[in-house]
Amino acid sequence: LTKPLSGRVAVVTGASSGIGESSAEHLAGLGARVAVLARRADRLDEIVSRIQKNGGTALAIAVDVTDAASVQAAADRVVSEMGDADLLFNNAGVMLPAPIEELAVDQWQHQIDLNITGLMNVIGVFTPQLVKAAGERGVSDLINTSSVAAQNIFPNFAVYSGTKAYVTHLSRHLRVELGAKNVRVSALEPGIVGTELQSHVTDDGVRQWLEGTKETMQWLTPQDIAETVGFIAALPPRANLQQVTIMPTRQP
Ligand code: NDP
Repeated sequence: LTKPLSGRVAVVTGASSGIGESSAEHLAGLGARVAVLARRADRLDEIVSRIQKNGGTALAIAVDVTDAASVQAAADRVVSEMGDADLLFNNAGVMLPAPIEELAVDQWQHQIDLNITGLMNVIGVFTPQLVKAAGERGVSDLINTSSVAAQNIFPNFAVYSGTKAYVTHLSRHLRVELGAKNVRVSALEPGIVGTELQSHVTDDGVRQWLEGTKETMQWLTPQDIAETVGFIAALPPRANLQQVTIMPTRQP
């Protein structure tokens, strides 16, 4: 039996943990060959081993997406070892909320560098592959991880939310521009998902706020998001989920 994503070549960034890790394994289970990208090579190797043990095909590429030259080298490796990518899950990101008056300018810059510049570096080098693959195989997918923070207001999330509003708005524009070439573009906007994301937060108030939400709701799991990514990519070529907001049921 052919699997829904058989013959597809997927690239997942931020694949060493959380949403990216789950999604890479899920896409491989659906039949795609998957290149996993992030900085922690040891974690990537473990994920590749697991995928291979389950009968899938995967390639680990250790890369810092904020380094444009390294991202280009990673894209070249994908072409030579797997062929042109037709599914890009552009997912690496970091969330460091804090009151703006703390002037945590290093954290502002880190979020902008990764969530915006890193995301653009990846789009820049993989778009030619997505377009070429769509021409040859019928359809490609560019799925950008945004956040519900692009839509809703959360206290002390201004800079992070700004980066994610950028991702959602960029995705809407690219959907029109690249849709004409059969590249579907989607913005994926999760509510709270339990991952390593929360562990990087340094602001005490925000940490407490995040912990407190666990008393009123069950957070989403990375697997919930992985299944959504698989659903988006397996739609018939005529159908493009432009924007998907997936929330914990009890998150306001
Ligand atoms: P994790 O912290 O578990 O995953 C982040 C991933 O990004 C890791 O694989 C990390 O790997 C990678 N990464 C970080 N910096 C770089 C870099 N410079 N170059 C390459 N890869 C990098 O968090 P999530 O899985 O939750 O986050 C994934 C995405 O989901 C992010 O864009 C986040 O903003 C978004 N999101 C998350 C939500 C949540 O509640 N968890 C809600 C809404 C959106 P490594 O350190 O090995 O490089």
